Amino acid sequence: MECYLDNSATTRPSDSAVAASARAMTEVWGNPSALHRIGDEANALLESSRKTAAKFLRAGSSEVYFTGCGTDSNNLAIFGTVRALRRRGNRIVTTAVEHPSVEEPMKRLEEDGYDVVRLPVDGNGCVDPDDLAKAVTKDTILVSMMLVNNEVGSIMPLSAARTAIRRAKAPALLHCDGVQGFGKLPVTPKELGVDLLSASAHKIHGPKGVGLLYVKSGTRILPYLLGGGQEGGLRSGTEGMPAIAGFAAAIGDLGDFGTVEKNLQRVTGLRDSLLQQLNGIDYTVNSPENALPYILNLSIPGIPSEVLRNSLSEKGVYVSTGSACSKGHRSTVLTQMGIAPERIDSAIRISFSATTT
Ligand code: PLP
Repeated sequence: MECYLDNSATTRPSDSAVAASARAMTEVWGNPSALHRIGDEANALLESSRKTAAKFLRAGSSEVYFTGCGTDSNNLAIFGTVRALRRRGNRIVTTAVEHPSVEEPMKRLEEDGYDVVRLPVDGNGCVDPDDLAKAVTKDTILVSMMLVNNEVGSIMPLSAARTAIRRAKAPALLHCDGVQGFGKLPVTPKELGVDLLSASAHKIHGPKGVGLLYVKSGTRILPYLLGGGQEGGLRSGTEGMPAIAGFAAAIGDLGDFGTVEKNLQRVTGLRDSLLQQLNGIDYTVNSPENALPYILNLSIPGIPSEVLRNSLSEKGVYVSTGSACSKGHRSTVLTQMGIAPERIDSAIRISFSATTT
């Protein structure tokens, strides 16, 4: 028996996603920009996919832009905002535990002279709302904060970021890397108070190589990928229809927020049952108590992460050690949370999906 428990890295594409992708390669294979029947059919599929995504987010179709992946969405949101607002200020606020697809653009902006403030997290992997309030000043042009941390599952206080921007009377846009929360938490961009929200298909049983960026109506950002002006000019390049159609099918599988809520309860049960079965083993949970249950980070002292991962892999159980040493460096997230180095060296990430049994 195999047990795949690395769903935060990627998920197995659902049957309906595979079928929708195949259909977009065999039947509806036209270029959505082409002005004839074959193109019109592809365009209809593109727009119905957009509608599915928008409906799920309880947003308008004109607020959803398809991109090449979650990384693309994050880069577009960050560089697009800074390009649009660069005359309004020089300060950018983010967290010290963002995914590299946010952190690396931040480093580039720092090299370009922007003042990037990275807020620390507490032992629960969370930013302090008071720190946010202090960090956001009237010359802040962007606040970028993830919804769910990909290593430990902590849920960030997005509403405190919105309040901080309002109080400071800052021109800042609020961007949220929602890749690990999309389809797992029943929250809309509107409820989160964000202007920009990134998501990625392969974390919710869709294909790899497609993401989306929600851009709140009336928000102006500028593209960094220039070309034929697809996706309202924000993300040029002929739309990756097989992936987009598969993404829409995967979103369709999610159903509505009622199902998202049910999945959340079920996965909480799975996580708790797994922990119960570890009874008798000396382990420490690194994920905070109120983390998204889909992500469980734990350490078994004395067993190096890689040894445990490889040994489990030989038995057909797949987990991740992305949270431990990468390229000789210890996990920034666990280090920031104040976890001792020995514990970090034996940390593994177990991640569930709505289809895990
Ligand atoms: N943001 C977070 C929090 C992630 O976990 C990931 C992927 O692991 C990404 C962004 C990047 O998404 P993609 O793989 O679609 O580029």
